[in-house]
Parts: sequence; structure tokens; C-alpha cells
Amino acid sequence: MAHPLDNIEDVQEFYEAIDRQHLTKALTPERPYTYWTIELYDKKNGIRGGGGLGVLAADTRRVAEQSSVPFVLITPFYPSEQHQHYEKVGDHFRNFTSHEAVDYTKYDYTFIDTINIKCNSAIISLDVIEKKLGSTRILCVTEPGFGELYSGESGGDHRLYQEVALGFGGYQALKLIGLKPSIMQLNEVATFFAALARLDELTSNGMDFYEAVVYTRKHTLYTNHTLVQAAEAEFNYDQFERYVFPNLKSMAVKKWLSDKFENGHIRLSTVTIEIAELRSGVSKLHARVANYRDLAGNKVKFKAITNGIDIPTWTAPGIVNYYTSKNILDKFCLPTADYKEKISTITAEDIRTQKQKGRDELNTVLAHRPDQYGNYIKIPDDALVFQFKRRFVDYKRPWLAFTRPETLKAILEKHNAYYILCGRVHEGDTAMSGQLERLLKLVDSDPVLKERVHYLPDYDEELGRALSIGANVSINNPIVGLEACGTSWMKDIINLGLLVSTHDGGVADCPADSYLSISGDTEAEELDSLYARMEEGASAWENDFDLEFFIKKELENYLPVISGTRMLKDYLDYLF
Ligand SMILES: *Cc1c(COP(=O)(O)O)cnc(C)c1O
Repeated sequence: MAHPLDNIEDVQEFYEAIDRQHLTKALTPERPYTYWTIELYDKKNGIRGGGGLGVLAADTRRVAEQSSVPFVLITPFYPSEQHQHYEKVGDHFRNFTSHEAVDYTKYDYTFIDTINIKCNSAIISLDVIEKKLGSTRILCVTEPGFGELYSGESGGDHRLYQEVALGFGGYQALKLIGLKPSIMQLNEVATFFAALARLDELTSNGMDFYEAVVYTRKHTLYTNHTLVQAAEAEFNYDQFERYVFPNLKSMAVKKWLSDKFENGHIRLSTVTIEIAELRSGVSKLHARVANYRDLAGNKVKFKAITNGIDIPTWTAPGIVNYYTSKNILDKFCLPTADYKEKISTITAEDIRTQKQKGRDELNTVLAHRPDQYGNYIKIPDDALVFQFKRRFVDYKRPWLAFTRPETLKAILEKHNAYYILCGRVHEGDTAMSGQLERLLKLVDSDPVLKERVHYLPDYDEELGRALSIGANVSINNPIVGLEACGTSWMKDIINLGLLVSTHDGGVADCPADSYLSISGDTEAEELDSLYARMEEGASAWENDFDLEFFIKKELENYLPVISGTRMLKDYLDYLF
């Protein structure tokens, strides 16, 4: 499939477009922007993630590639990944997890060399592999025993090993290919050891320790996605003696790190805050409310840089063309100076035409993605589709719309609507597997729900994209205050869908009348509101005037938020 964007030949053109010519000197192919992440969600390049953190990493790199910005993403290549299956056995829906080997040689990576790290009295040899994509690269460390993403207990030895391998191993890998980081962006605290490796290198090469700390701090950005510091797992001193200290050359750095333990324990966020002067949160609300303290006990300030998405990746090509031909987006996928006026020319007829094509794409994907019964469904052309697609974790409340089944049924029948649910339960989350099983049994017990509600297991990028493109109304109902940003809802809006959501995460960057907002002080009130908004969203699709009104309002407000290029621009502004 041809890329819907023009290929940008020259980064100068991008820097001129965003009026940041000075970046030509700050970021060069030899001194690139470096982005460190334990999770990448980019299956096309062989790496399956777990959720939003990995999708964000993949999108940040893609945006950098389209803008020709010199950028290196450093991440593990996991030699195994998980898949989820469902089967109905008697009255039960059985959840199976399977593990699949992944071979990097199948994804066009180049093997560079091996490097060593020391862990638990052993020398571990890591393969360094890379893949060049335009002005960007994916640089990975891996070995057969690396395990899966988030395998083992959080706070356990294996996690620490993976994080140490990424940090110390990744830093050596960068040197191996002859690059020095201009900036190090740490996508959450699991990447702390990369900044530590840099501090150790500077200090052991003779720089005064305090100068090295100042230097490292000035060039390190810690991006936080978590709201509560207390929720973070701790490591103990013994674990650091086995996995971390053996990889440090400088006594001063060892001493500095040892002093950060409290009662023999350490949280990586406390040391990440110490080593990174630049700190960001992933939406306006999250940056305000994230409750983090530094070692002195002061509340940490986070700069709000709301996540965006790579628009060409997540949007139907016809819709990207529609936005660029109408001059709503420029060729970098930034909103144009007068995007609001241009949005006012969008018509209901255009929306319906684009959505019909989207529905065909959705059906193409549904033809090979079974539902909870192992059946392949096809949504009729004249039906409406509600969708809920996100990780099945408690705070996102995937079960909410099923709390009053009679009300849900009435809405589905009245509007000839389907409700598609998608999302993986974290292995070991027995409470949520129980919720899902109850939900599937409820659906199974009722002929109307059984016809109109479908759960698609093994949620991934393909399903996420297809649902955004092909559904009409999306539902996002996290408990207010618990979503850091969320990006699935952005995929829905950019594909001309209506959003029903609580006012949380990045959604709360814009006023609550920008979309179909769920409100209420109690869950019962929120439920009344959820069903009322679903009804409103479904009715809007039956009326050109309302459809145009709501879609334009969403786009006028959220288009700049959604643009991943806007996000990259915000990072560059903050960093340089
Ligand atoms: C977009 C996407 C996400 C992000 O989900 P949020 O819950 O909105 O943060 C997660 N997983 C997949 C597969 C996605 O496509």
C-alpha cells in the first residue's frame, strides 16, 4: 500500500515548516534523538507490545521518520510473544494463552555484533540488531533467554534483568554503531538504566562526577505515564548487587546510587527524577495530577505533552487524502493555519461515503478474526456499530455498558446496532478474566445480545485500526482520574467516528462539549449518562445535520491534539 504522505526528502523542510531551523545543528545523524522504551508495539517490525505505551513509542518513531528527523529507538527484541484464544466448552468460555516464538531474521534486521553485560555472576551476551527506516532506526538487544514482554513479577529478578539489558546493553549498542545521543527520552522508568549507563560512562572517562550528573540531567527527559508513585514496584539492594552494580565502572556512581536506597529498597521513579531534569506527562490533566515526590519530598512538576498518533498509520487512506485535499492537514499531518474553516466544509455525505469504505475494510478483517465462539462475523452494510477496544483492566470498565442489559438491548435493537468488544486480559488478572467470562455468559444467555454483541479475542493493531475505521460510535469509559492519556479514542475521531467518553486523560484536553461526554458523580449516574449518550450517538447517524455537527465539533477541537507531528513538535520545543 502506497504511503499516503509525500515522502519528505529533507529534514530542513520540516524544520522550516515548524519554524525551528536551529534544530539542524542540534540533531544530526551522528547525534540523534534517542528514545528508550521497554515496550514497542510495532508488529510490522516484529515486536508486539501490550498497550498504549508501546503504541506511543511506535508512533513517535513513525512521525520522526515522516519528518526526516534523526531518531533512534532502543528497545528489546522479545524472542517470544503471547496470544489469546477463546473456546466455549459446555457452559464455559475458556481462555487460552499461547506462546509463539519470534525470529528477528524474519523481519529484515541486520545483525551488528554481540555485547556483554554482567548479571547474577554471569556474563550475558546480547545480540545487537538494527533496522534502518528513513532517518530513523530501531536498535535492539536480544538473546534467546530474554523472555516475553513483562514476563515475571514486577519487581522480580527477570524484570530487572530485562531493564538492565535494555539500559546498559542498549547504551553499548548505540556506541557500537558510532552514535552519541543528543537527547535521551526515557519512556517510563523501566528505561532508567540507559541514563545511568551514560552517567557512568562520562564519569569513568574522567569527567567530574557532579559535572557528569548535571550534563546527564540536562539531556535526559523522563516521560511519565503513571499517576501514582506508590503503585510502582520496588527493587531491593541485593537485586542491585547482583544485576546493576556489576555493570558500573565508576565508584562515584555506585555510591550515588547506593545512597538512594531507603530501608534497603528503591523505586526507579525516584532515581529517574534525580537523573532527568526534563520531565513530561502525557496529557494536560495527567501532568497536573500525577503525584510524584523527589527525594527531598517536593512535588515533581511535569510538562504536559499530550500523546498524539501517527495519522497515516491509524487512518483510512481515503480519509487522510480527504483531509489533505481539503487543506485540513498539511503534508506533515499537522493541522493547517485555517483548519477550522476548512473543517466547516465537511459534509454528511462525505462522512457516510468514507465510513462505507471503512465498513468494507472492517468486514475484510472480521473475515479472519473469529469472535468468542470461533465464528467469523460480517456486519451488514445498513447496521450501526458501537465498539469498545482497549486492554481489559478494571479502571477502563469494559463491562460498564452491560450493567443494565435491557437498556443496552433496547438501544441495539432500535438502531439495528452491533456492539463489538475487543481487549486482552493481562495473564494472571483473575478478577478481570472472571468479569469477562460473566459478560460472555450474559451475552450467551440472551438471543438479542448473542446476535448483536461480539467479543474479538487477541486484540492487536489490526483489530484496533479496523474498528476505528469501520465503527460509528466508540465507547471509552475509564474511571475519571485514572487514564493518563489513552490514544484509541484519537483513532476513532480521526476516522470520522463519534466518541462517547468520560472526561479523562487526553480527552480532557478539550472542553466536555467537544464530544458525547459521560458525566455523573456516581456510577449509577454515569450509567444513565452512558446510555443517553449512546442513544444520542446512534441517532446522530440517522440525521445528516446532527452527524455533521458532532463530527465537525470533534475535529475542530481534537485535530491538533491527535496529530503525532504536533506531539513531536512539542517535544522538540521542550527539549531544544
Ligand atoms: C491504540 C492501541 C492501544 C492504546 O490504547 P489506549 O487504551 O487508548 O491507551 C492499545 N493497544 C492497541 C492494539 C492499540 O491499537
